[in-house]
Amino acid sequence: MYFLSDIEQKRLLYQLLPTAREVGVSKELRGWNWHQPPLKPYFDNVKLPMYQISSKYCPTNRDIYLRNIEKKFCPPNSRMALGKLFHGIVSDCLQSFRQRQNLSFDVWWQKVRWQEIGEKPETVIDKCRQVWDFMHKVCEAQLAELSCSQPYANEMDLLGTAIPFLVEHKLSGELLGLSDILSVDCFDYLRTIMFDLKVTSFKEDWHRLYSLGYALVFESIHEVPVDICCTVYLGVENGKISVQKDLFFANDELRQWWLEERDKKLEIVAERKDPGKPERSQCKEYCQYYNVCYG
Ligand code: SF4
Repeated sequence: MYFLSDIEQKRLLYQLLPTAREVGVSKELRGWNWHQPPLKPYFDNVKLPMYQISSKYCPTNRDIYLRNIEKKFCPPNSRMALGKLFHGIVSDCLQSFRQRQNLSFDVWWQKVRWQEIGEKPETVIDKCRQVWDFMHKVCEAQLAELSCSQPYANEMDLLGTAIPFLVEHKLSGELLGLSDILSVDCFDYLRTIMFDLKVTSFKEDWHRLYSLGYALVFESIHEVPVDICCTVYLGVENGKISVQKDLFFANDELRQWWLEERDKKLEIVAERKDPGKPERSQCKEYCQYYNVCYG
């Protein structure tokens, strides 16, 4: 899932990294400058999770007001259920493979807490099994390839190099006005790439804000530059798995966009102000709050 293809590797080496080195990132937009503007949060009594700061499902951000001020909680829809399951499969499969636990799909499946997922198991089991098998095969292939070229490396070293990922890595975003229990989908510690997994085939420009936000948080804590981010789009349609990647340079423009979103949303919550609804045609019927706004 997070392994780069040959073409993506070439793009990284010959396009994105040279651009990042040449253009650079303004020093005030590095996460480690969290203590001064523009990174310093203006409203320091409010903390929000990354998915609320980076999502742009609602054009006016009314979803943020409804969730945090009106305390409206909506049950997950089937899109969200599949998203949750695929995230769990990708992270648990990677982690069990790295730890050589030999966790099988059937054992994993028995542990799913279906009351939290809100979907019938029989409607999604085939897709889930397919993603699990795919992940397992890709990990085996990466490990086998590296083992041939490094015959004297021990297993731990091979695993750490063939699958160089921190998955569901826990970070505190409090220095930037975020929750202190963030969980990063994946960070490639050899190439310093921040990944975010999306279970959808619809690409939106603002999807970049998730991995970019995590890159800023990572910089704020570890003081290590994260210049490259990637959104991974995963889908299973008609029995076929599709994985597409949007690999990009975390430049000043995107960093500023993320900060604008953060500031707007923290302000809505800090000042308890309803931003109102946009034109109804701009609201998607799959919006979690559609019935709240138009019910
Ligand atoms: S229904 Fe429209 S206004 Fe309400 S939260 Fe969703 S997108 Fe925003």
